[in-house]
Amino acid sequence: MSNHPFSDTIALRGHHFLCTLHYQGAGYSAGFTDNFTALCQHIQDTPDVQVRVAPMADEICRACPSLQDDAETCAYQMSVMRRDRALLDEMGWQAGTVMPLREAHLAVLAQREHLMAKVCPGCDWLPRCLEKGPYGIASPLNESRSKEFVS
Ligand code: SF4
Repeated sequence: MSNHPFSDTIALRGHHFLCTLHYQGAGYSAGFTDNFTALCQHIQDTPDVQVRVAPMADEICRACPSLQDDAETCAYQMSVMRRDRALLDEMGWQAGTVMPLREAHLAVLAQREHLMAKVCPGCDWLPRCLEKGPYGIASPLNESRSKEFVS
């Protein structure tokens, strides 16, 4: 039995639906990458895991050095909230929406290029995501290696 610290329904903020598809193990600190990698491994190990759209900080933020003392606000709050809103508006999702994460990821993959054009400009990680593609540790494409959804 796994002893991961994640709940049955994991929480992801809007723009992290894209980040989880691209994450390859790099990040802001050792603690951040340890947590993010464990979350991605949990997602791969639990294909039917549910996700709840978080209004602000989520399972990834909680180990981030940019998370403020209130455990909700990011040091780059304006920027990340704009990215969250852009993703949710395009997908028609709202904070609190619960759905199977795999279905959500496949829906995001199906319009990845369009979403990245709306959500990702100005992000320091964008060149790496474009170079590596949507084959992150948590990506359905990492599991199947299918190119069906690659735009
Ligand atoms: S930079 Fe901000 S939005 Fe990104 S993981 Fe850290 S706290 Fe969360």
